[in-house]
Amino acid sequence: MKRNFMKKILSALTVTVMATSMLLTAGCGSSSTSSNSSAASSSNPEDYANALQGKKLQIACDVSFVPFMFPDENNQYVGFDVDLLNAMSDYLGFTYELQPMEFTALLSSVQAKKVDLGSSGITITDERKKVMDFSDPYYDSATQILVKDDSDIKDFDDLHGKTVSMKIGTAPVKYIEEHYPDVNIKEFNTSDEAYLEVARGSADASVFETPNMLYYIKQNPNSHTKVVGTKINACQYGILFPKHSELTKYFNAALAKLKADGTYDKIYEKWFGEAPQQ
Ligand code: GLN
Repeated sequence: MKRNFMKKILSALTVTVMATSMLLTAGCGSSSTSSNSSAASSSNPEDYANALQGKKLQIACDVSFVPFMFPDENNQYVGFDVDLLNAMSDYLGFTYELQPMEFTALLSSVQAKKVDLGSSGITITDERKKVMDFSDPYYDSATQILVKDDSDIKDFDDLHGKTVSMKIGTAPVKYIEEHYPDVNIKEFNTSDEAYLEVARGSADASVFETPNMLYYIKQNPNSHTKVVGTKINACQYGILFPKHSELTKYFNAALAKLKADGTYDKIYEKWFGEAPQQ
């Protein structure tokens, strides 16, 4: 009697386990199918030539981030990101309108789907990825320190207890808050304002991303500032989209195409004077 009862329980359990594992397998199957298809689409970018023909996209941009997006002497927006967007629009067939705004507004506008995408050297972070989507990375970056030419500050460990000017809402602010909690951070809307604070001696240093600082000191030799310190907080830039945007896959295909045909390298060399590091 007892044995029969046990047998019944065991066979019921077996059925349950089998059914559960079938369900799990089905789940895995469908998710791997979808990731396969996205891999296939980005490895075959030709499929998307002129795929966005007739579309006019609204692009949020922060025009204070040299050399990615900034106004030239004629007040035309130029930079690495502008050239990349133009090459992508040539390939995908869309037209676009740039909507300049402060960096924090850019992030919230993309998240709230007020624009189709955002571009201005935006760092791909886990926190942003929770509420928005990114294209594949298009630029490797890092964080360093800008100080006056005669400063004693040489690296990040010299920043303890110091006043550091930074651009509000940017990824390096998060990094310094987490790793150097005793740094007194003064925030500004643009990096130019933050650097000016160093130049005039109101902050001991500024911390921001390397390409922006190097371009700034080259353009502003009279600021008497220099870039120092180990490159930390290695990161990558991506184009930012609202969560689940249809556009991401087209832009990834365009990026893959521009990398494959040499256009990306030409744009990189134009702005950074050297080929991208592999
Ligand atoms: N890459 C930095 C970030 O995303 C700064 C970008 C910018 O200032 N436009 O936080």
